[in-house]
Amino acid sequence: MAVNKVILATGHSARDIYELLHKKEIALKAKSFAMGVRVEHPQAIIDQIQYHCSGDRDELLPAAAYSLVQQVNNRGVYSFCMCPGGFIVPAATANGEVVVNGMSPSRRNNKFANSGIVVELDIDRDFAKYEKFGPLKGLEFQKDLEKIAFFAGGRTQTAPAQRLVDFVDGKLSSDLNDCSYQPGLNSAPLHSLLPKIIGGRLRKGFAAFGKKMHGYYTNEANIIGVESRTSSPVNIPRKENLEHPEIEGLFPCGEGGGYAGGIVSAAMDGERCAEAAIASF
Ligand SMILES: Cc1cc2nc3c(=O)[nH]c(=O)nc-3n(C[C@H](O)[C@H](O)[C@H](O)COP(=O)(O)OP(=O)(O)OC[C@H]3O[C@@H](n4cnc5c(N)ncnc54)[C@H](O)[C@@H]3O)c2cc1C
Repeated sequence: MAVNKVILATGHSARDIYELLHKKEIALKAKSFAMGVRVEHPQAIIDQIQYHCSGDRDELLPAAAYSLVQQVNNRGVYSFCMCPGGFIVPAATANGEVVVNGMSPSRRNNKFANSGIVVELDIDRDFAKYEKFGPLKGLEFQKDLEKIAFFAGGRTQTAPAQRLVDFVDGKLSSDLNDCSYQPGLNSAPLHSLLPKIIGGRLRKGFAAFGKKMHGYYTNEANIIGVESRTSSPVNIPRKENLEHPEIEGLFPCGEGGGYAGGIVSAAMDGERCAEAAIASF
């Protein structure tokens, strides 16, 4: 059916859409984003640190959360989407890649606490080798890291993992802790598999987090790779009236357009785009 208004809200993982727009020479821009790993501790360790208790937390208290941030070599290393009492889940969208994400059930009653720990990347400085991909350079970098995770994990959805202190010390883990990630883990040298701009900063960041939260820096935690879809590596530009500068009636929207970073901001951007589309009639 022919239409003259389209709200394009296909999310940050619809790579076919970015590739289609690029192939048709419709303007796109590379955008800074963040990447890293997911870390998982027993929830009891996080409860003990945050509630200053020994043993189990009081039954009236919710599973404890945390938020950490550290500057390492001029880039932010920070916790992202911390999931108390939660699960690490597979989030790949194509064959041949491993991507992890996290979620908490409403009761937050699983025995693990997980969080993305990611490094801020600078689209103008960190992707020299990928310049030939133009506006898709961050996307191609993301793809390569997800492929590395797939091969290091064992070519299934099993994810590559390492104990936290082993990762910082640059030592392959001889075994791993129990984990909430259902497809399972494979011990891998993430310290050498991750590019230095990410791995080097994560190692310093984790050591610093251990000083902020005593007990956090422990080999009872695993890190699991890779947390690569924190936000879109591509921006679909739009004018003040929210239309694409080159395509009349096209309204790039939400996280895929680069205008949101989560459920609420994506929903609010959806409302704005709907209003803009109506106003343009
Ligand atoms: C495991 C997990 C946990 C998360 N937890 C949280 C959280 O606790 N809080 C939070 O704020 N955010 C969370 N997020 C992030 C949140 O889901 C996103 O930020 C949000 O959904 C983005 O909304 P969106 O509408 O822009 O894109 P999406 O929700 O990705 O929606 C895009 C839609 O477009 C469809 N689509 C793609 N291509 C096409 C096509 N060619 N034709 C038709 N349809 C297409 C997709 O199927 C999808 O339905 C989580 C994400 C994951 C994966």
